[in-house]
Amino acid sequence: MKIITTPDKRLREPSEKVRQIDDDTLKIIEDMRKLSLEWEAKHPYELSAAMAAPQMGVNKRIIIIRDDMEDKKNAHFTAFINPEVTKTEGKTVTDYEGCLSVPHIYGMVPRPFKVRVKAKLEDGKEVRIKATGELARTLLHEIDHLNGVLFIDHIKDKKDAFYYMDNKGELLPIKDYEKEILNNEKLWGEE
Ligand SMILES: [Zn+2]
Repeated sequence: MKIITTPDKRLREPSEKVRQIDDDTLKIIEDMRKLSLEWEAKHPYELSAAMAAPQMGVNKRIIIIRDDMEDKKNAHFTAFINPEVTKTEGKTVTDYEGCLSVPHIYGMVPRPFKVRVKAKLEDGKEVRIKATGELARTLLHEIDHLNGVLFIDHIKDKKDAFYYMDNKGELLPIKDYEKEILNNEKLWGEE
């Protein structure tokens, strides 16, 4: 198992619902947790906040979200199975987003400030989540993955919206984004 990156087609496919939470489901979740932390170990300036199953090439509706998105020492992730956005509300807020599957690139993505999500936990219990701010953004980003959508798709006004993370962890604005970075297959396709 490994984290796949653009332009891998599996990132663009809609994922199927989990019919039954069984050992295979739990194994997928375990692999996702492991891969997230492995990725983080190789990226000293970034925190692995969340991941969706299609990011390891498994097109099933499963996401994991870090319990504490500020603290690298807290390596616990909660899994949400068949998550569904039931409502978005509040004003639209634009903030930085990055993605394990879109190496080096960060973008300014507009999202609603509040979201309501329903999902199942690993034990099959149904939960309803009301989230705001960073957690709302993360949930929307991950649920997008289950529909084959990436954060870059939400950036309509591309001028000044993209950043590149250099090897010191600095985010540099991408000025000539089209020529230099966004059309560079090699960069998009490799870690
Ligand atoms: Zn992502």
